[in-house]
Amino acid sequence: MKKIMLLGSGELGRELVISLKRLGQYVVAVDNYDHAPAMQVADEKEVINMLHGNSLDAIVKKHQPAIIIPEVEAIRTERFYDYEAEGIHVVPSAKAANFTMNRKAIRDLAANELGLKTPKFSYANNLDTLTEKVHEIGFPCVTKPLMSSSGKGQTLVKGEEDIEKAWQNAITNSRGDSIELIIEGFVEFDMEVTLLTVTTLDGKVMFCPPIGHRQERGDYMESWQPALITDEQLKAAQNMAAKVTKELGGAGIWGVEFFMTKDDIYFSELSPRPHDTGMVTLAGTQNLNEFELHARAILGLPIHSIDLIKHGASAVILGSRSGTRPIATGLEDALSTPGSDVRLFGKPSTRLYRRMGVGLYSSNDESEQVIREKAELIASKVVISS
Ligand code: AMP
Repeated sequence: MKKIMLLGSGELGRELVISLKRLGQYVVAVDNYDHAPAMQVADEKEVINMLHGNSLDAIVKKHQPAIIIPEVEAIRTERFYDYEAEGIHVVPSAKAANFTMNRKAIRDLAANELGLKTPKFSYANNLDTLTEKVHEIGFPCVTKPLMSSSGKGQTLVKGEEDIEKAWQNAITNSRGDSIELIIEGFVEFDMEVTLLTVTTLDGKVMFCPPIGHRQERGDYMESWQPALITDEQLKAAQNMAAKVTKELGGAGIWGVEFFMTKDDIYFSELSPRPHDTGMVTLAGTQNLNEFELHARAILGLPIHSIDLIKHGASAVILGSRSGTRPIATGLEDALSTPGSDVRLFGKPSTRLYRRMGVGLYSSNDESEQVIREKAELIASKVVISS
């Protein structure tokens, strides 16, 4: 049994803790608020501000974990290099956790060092440079703070009049100490795809069947597996994912994100942890779901193969207004269809658009369209109130 510290205790962490507990591990779940989803299933919990290096140091000293697993990006990840030097296994590696919290580090690595195809991009740290770079890239383009995720602080810049608004939006929604933006050419994609990639302690790289997903407000709304892409596109995505994960190093699951157009495939970004769109694997689409794969990879346990068992889809269950102690109703109705399932995350409070659960559906003899519609229907039947 290993003592594991999980930094970030949301819904992905919760499912990961369940997988780790099933394999007999001891987990300390950490987040900046109490009663977070993963804390409810872990052995111990800590509530700290994970962006404070000293608070992090204090709990690492107190618990002496053998393994640290980051579940979110809002962590003082520079400290990970020290923990790694002290012999703590940081998942997947201190470099991966540190690089992926900053869009610039990962984009420079992917595009400039590894030569992956990405959208056109540039950076700016003041309004004048932003204006100049936006003109260089051309309209429409997308601006995002370097330290942000899930569409926060992101603006679609369609014309000159949007530039100042983009700057303000980025400043207000940037996490961390520096204000800098990435400006990206807007990609008219047909589909967004997550390629869950598993790297193992003994140097193997394995891939899950590709997942298609749809986003709104920078958050995922539905995902489905397998995404219907060509063998060529899949090979290209796998090659890019293998290159970038190898460079960052370590073992675990990675969510590698791509934009697919008719003729091309662009690397967008990656996260060194289970991915929210990968919750579709909770529908039983694979022999091992993304959390079981992460747990095995981290612990150095065998993963013989990753097989597609069924086709499936997930759709999010969102909060509709602010409130505490939310309750969910409609489960009986939601689960009335064979092949349906639901995961509720047990968050202690809700608000408009907060992700509170997912509806899941899987089947082997229905079309992607029908499977997606059924997952949406299942999710829509669960009502969150407080
Ligand atoms: P991100 O926070 O970078 O994952 O962006 C959130 C979502 O915004 C993505 O999943 C896309 O739907 C959209 N998006 C981000 N960048 C671009 C881009 N360069 N072109 C088109 N859509 C984008």
